[in-house]
Amino acid sequence: MGRIKIHFAEAAGFCMGVRRAIETAEAEAAGSDAVFTYGELIHNQAALDALKTKGVGVVHDPAEAAGTIVIRAHGITTAERDALCRQAGRVVDATCTMVQHIKDEIDAAHAKGALVLVCGEPEHPEAIGLKDGREDVVVIREPLELRDPELKKRVERAEAVTLVAQSTQLIETFDAVALALAELRPDAAVHNTICGPTRKRQEALLTLAQTLPLIVVVGDAHSANTRHLVELARRHTRAERVSDASELDPEWFTGISEVGVSAGASTPDETIQKVVEGIEGL
Ligand code: SF4
Repeated sequence: MGRIKIHFAEAAGFCMGVRRAIETAEAEAAGSDAVFTYGELIHNQAALDALKTKGVGVVHDPAEAAGTIVIRAHGITTAERDALCRQAGRVVDATCTMVQHIKDEIDAAHAKGALVLVCGEPEHPEAIGLKDGREDVVVIREPLELRDPELKKRVERAEAVTLVAQSTQLIETFDAVALALAELRPDAAVHNTICGPTRKRQEALLTLAQTLPLIVVVGDAHSANTRHLVELARRHTRAERVSDASELDPEWFTGISEVGVSAGASTPDETIQKVVEGIEGL
């Protein structure tokens, strides 16, 4: 037992959507010799390396698609899906049911003529898939964007307005956007579509961040939900992100006896375990 007491977040690491996507790709690879994911299945190098050893490759362009293509948990656009279906031998859809639920909500609101706002990161593949190339589906990061004169005008003049969230959005950010929107359009339909696993991870982290001097979040720099966990923790305490145990800096732990540990939804259990062992060994 090390000198530092570790408090592990009650909910952390792989979510059900990521786990299901990985299991789907592995099952496909066990029965075929040409299995690829369209884009990286998850934002974690260790997990991607492990998939590669099991025969799961990656293609980034539908034109390169061959054999069986697995669509990742955060989904794709309709144009990409159509291109993959034309090009690949077989397409297996591992889009998370919770992402599909958000897409269904957007489609329904859009079909009724509403302007749809998605609180998320415009360049994230999930947000790109949710927008699906539609001009009347607008992805916004933060409440300040609603002050943009052009967007403000569109919101005020739209027949109806619906607000949803990217599945991994910070609860606090979504609430702030909903509040700002209510000032412009009190009649807007607001659907908090942050998924259950993301909520649980944020709530568990918050419990630790409010009482501990340091939080270590295990996850890749490209993982949106990992970045959100770090951002959330930093509103309350000191927080550091590591991709793996090799990035632990002993200086962070000088003068402290307790630390909280959490992990993004795409961080494998083994990576988390090694970080915990690394802290115990300090
Ligand atoms: S973060 Fe939520 S929506 Fe995204 S894959 Fe995981 S469970 Fe599904």
